[in-house]
Amino acid sequence: METYRLIRNADWIVTMDEHRSRYRHADLIYKGNEIVAVGPHLEEAWRGRCRFDEVCDATGKIVTPGFVNAHHHTWQALIRNIKVTQGLKLEPWLKVMYEVYKDLTPEVARAGVFASLGDCLKTGCTTSNDLWYPHPVKTARLMDAEIQAAAELGIRFHPIRSYHSQVSDVVVPEVVDTTERVIADATRLVKTYHDSRRFSMCRVGIGPSIAQYDTEEILQATLEFAEKYDVMVHGHLAESRYEWEYTQARYGCTPVEWFRRHGLLGERFYYAHCVQLDERDIRLLADSHTGVASCPISNMYLSSGACPVRALMDAGVRRIGLGVDGPASSNSSNMMEEMRVCYLLNRLCYGDKPCSAEDILYMATAGGARALGRDDIGVLRPGMAADIAILDWSKLSYAGGCYDPVDCIVMSGDARMVDTVIVNGEIVVRGGVLTRVDEEEKRQYVNAVGRGLLCKSAQRLPALRADLQ
Ligand SMILES: [Zn+2]
Repeated sequence: METYRLIRNADWIVTMDEHRSRYRHADLIYKGNEIVAVGPHLEEAWRGRCRFDEVCDATGKIVTPGFVNAHHHTWQALIRNIKVTQGLKLEPWLKVMYEVYKDLTPEVARAGVFASLGDCLKTGCTTSNDLWYPHPVKTARLMDAEIQAAAELGIRFHPIRSYHSQVSDVVVPEVVDTTERVIADATRLVKTYHDSRRFSMCRVGIGPSIAQYDTEEILQATLEFAEKYDVMVHGHLAESRYEWEYTQARYGCTPVEWFRRHGLLGERFYYAHCVQLDERDIRLLADSHTGVASCPISNMYLSSGACPVRALMDAGVRRIGLGVDGPASSNSSNMMEEMRVCYLLNRLCYGDKPCSAEDILYMATAGGARALGRDDIGVLRPGMAADIAILDWSKLSYAGGCYDPVDCIVMSGDARMVDTVIVNGEIVVRGGVLTRVDEEEKRQYVNAVGRGLLCKSAQRLPALRADLQ
C-alpha cells in the first residue's frame, strides 16, 4: 500500500489557484514533494486505498501556499537597526552601506542567511530570492556560502549574481566588478548550483543592482548570459526619486523606458520596488509581462514612496509579488508583516484604487511565484510542490475577526500565527520553531559575526561605534 502524508480537517484551505478556490473543513494529501489532492472529505475517501505515514491535524488552522519572498539581501540582517543610517534616504544610506560592504566575507553570508531566511521560514515563507551585491574585489565565493546555508535551512532559494561595473556617487572602487569576473563567477554558480527542473530547490539568476548606473558592456553580457543559460534577470527598478531624476537628466526618459530601450523588460525579468512609475511605465511593464516585487516596508523606511499595486494589477501585471528587501532597510524578514503593511500602504497612498486582502495574499503566493518564473509553487493543487503554510487563527489575538480567512491573515495576521511550514514535502517549521537547525546556536553565531563585521567597518567609519557600546 502506498504511503502518503495528510493535513486533515483544516478550517480553511486557501488554494490561490486561478479560480481562487477555498475549501472549508478540508484535507490536503501529498506524496514526497508533490501535492496529490486538495478538498473536503479526502481522509475518508483515501483511507482504504493508502497509508498515511504522517498526519498533521489542522483543526483551528488555515492552510495556504507557502509564501514567496521575491526580493531580499540576506546578509543585511547583520547591519540592521544601525543608528548612523536611521533617518536617511536611499542614496546617503547607501554611502554608509558601501563602507560596510568592503568587509563582506563568506561568514557574513552564512550568518545573514540564518537570520534572514530563518525569519522568512518562521513567518510562513517557503521560497526566497536573494539579490547579492556587491562583491568586494578581494573576496570570492560569497554566494556559495549563502547557497549552502539556505540548503541547510531547507528553504527553496533563488540567488541572483548581481554586480557593480563602475564607480559612482555611492559605489566605491573596492566593489567594482569587471565583466569577465562577473560572467566567470555567474557561469560557475549556474553550473554548480542551478537546477531548472520542476520542484528545483535552487535556481541561480543574474542582474544589475541598478541597471542605468552600469556599463553598456556588462548589461549586454548579462542579457547574453541569461539567454545562453536560460536563467532569470533580477534587479532594482524605479525605486527612488533620485534614480528617476538621474535617468531623466542623463537619458531624458523614465527608468522603465530606459530599461525598455536596453531590452531589459520581458518574461525573463522581474524587478524590485517599481515605485516611481507613470501611466506609460505601468503599461510598458504590463505589455512586456515583466515581473514586479513590491517591498513596502523598505520603501517606507527609506521614504521612497509606494508601488501602485492595484494600478499594476488593473493594467494586467500578473507576475507581481512581495519582497521583504534587505533588513538594512526593512529591519526584518517577516512575510506576514510585509503583507499587512502592503495592504495598509496601498490604502494610504492609493485609496481610490484599493487592494483587497486577497490581492495581497496573491502577491505573497502565486503572484510571487510567477514573478520568479515558476509554475510549480505558490498554489495548492495536485501536481504542485508541497510548499505549505499552516496558520493558527484559534488564538485570542485573532478572536472576534475569524470570518474570512484571507482577511484575517492579511489584515490582522502576524508571525504568531505561523504554526507549521512545509517545503518540498518536508516540515521545516513545527510549532513556530525551525526543525533543521538549533535556533539558539544560530542566534549566538549571527550576533557574533555581526558584531565582528561592525567592529571591522567602524575602524574606517567611527560613527558605527554608536552601536558597539
Ligand atoms: Zn533591494
